[in-house]
Amino acid sequence: MKFSTQLFPETPLQRVRWPITDAAGVHFFVKREDLINPYWSGNKWYKLRGNVDAMKSQNKIGMVSFGGGYSNHLHALAYCGKALQIPTVGIVRGDYRHQLTPTLRDCEAAGMTLRFVDRKTYAQRYHPTFAAQLDPNLADYWVIPEGGANREGVLGCQVIAQSIQHQLDQHLRCFDLSSSSHKSSIPTPFQVFVPCGTATTLMGLISSLPEWANVHGVSVLKGEDTLTERVKQLLLDYGIKPHCQWSILTGYHSGGYGKFPPDLKAFMQAFEAECGFLLDPIYTVKMMRAIAAGVESGRWSKGDVVVAIHTGGLQGRRGYDLPM
Ligand SMILES: *Cc1c(COP(=O)(O)O)cnc(C)c1O
Repeated sequence: MKFSTQLFPETPLQRVRWPITDAAGVHFFVKREDLINPYWSGNKWYKLRGNVDAMKSQNKIGMVSFGGGYSNHLHALAYCGKALQIPTVGIVRGDYRHQLTPTLRDCEAAGMTLRFVDRKTYAQRYHPTFAAQLDPNLADYWVIPEGGANREGVLGCQVIAQSIQHQLDQHLRCFDLSSSSHKSSIPTPFQVFVPCGTATTLMGLISSLPEWANVHGVSVLKGEDTLTERVKQLLLDYGIKPHCQWSILTGYHSGGYGKFPPDLKAFMQAFEAECGFLLDPIYTVKMMRAIAAGVESGRWSKGDVVVAIHTGGLQGRRGYDLPM
């Protein structure tokens, strides 16, 4: 794999020939946020960008956040801190002191200070002064919620939408897709798929994509039937307005967060062989499956434009013994 050496690269939007979309005549594109870097890959990096800006304006001296032993978010935060020379602290659910996961080993190597807390303590992470109560030194740190799920994270993710719109325009002009089924004065509608944990990334997209886009979030957690309502409330709290249509699909969690049953693995291996790039087992594979289901059921067909956001997370493959 070839990764960017820039801190803020613009990732490519690639036309991908996938037999499933090809057979249906669907124009399939993938926004390759996994190519930013294996470490601060994907959407986590955009969320952190928004938070770094906030940290600086608040005159904080470092950043502290929370996560599990395989957290993409802590991983990205550690490397972000290293790259920008900002001290970082990771508060980790569970005691991994004597058996650091590959993710946590990377975090430490990147200079992050790790603090391990038990599940009961970790449950208090949403309390605004939780970090400072744990360690008074953290009072001067910018606190980032688990997963980078805050308003700054949403604003950071708007950059993805701006880039997609611009790049898709270029592709459509190039393939002349717009003139075939739509009058050139009318923008070509397009479908955007994004995996959802907290839906922070989704909120960044829907607040920045144009009204002719339709965004489909694919929830990777089980029992997230209320996620749509939560997103609506958060948008109000953040004072952010969606411009396009959006919805959240809840039927593709494959058993729940982190669950990776054999059928999902088989789907992933087929996809990787057919398309020539890797997916992560927690998020992007479930999104691709939702797209496959939509195409196979005839929901998307000839001439439709479907954009999948590869949000990265490849470092998480190590937790499943998948080759990098
Ligand atoms: C965290 C993560 C997501 C989920 O992002 P949210 O903004 O929390 O919805 C999706 N994909 C990958 C690879 C992630 O690491």
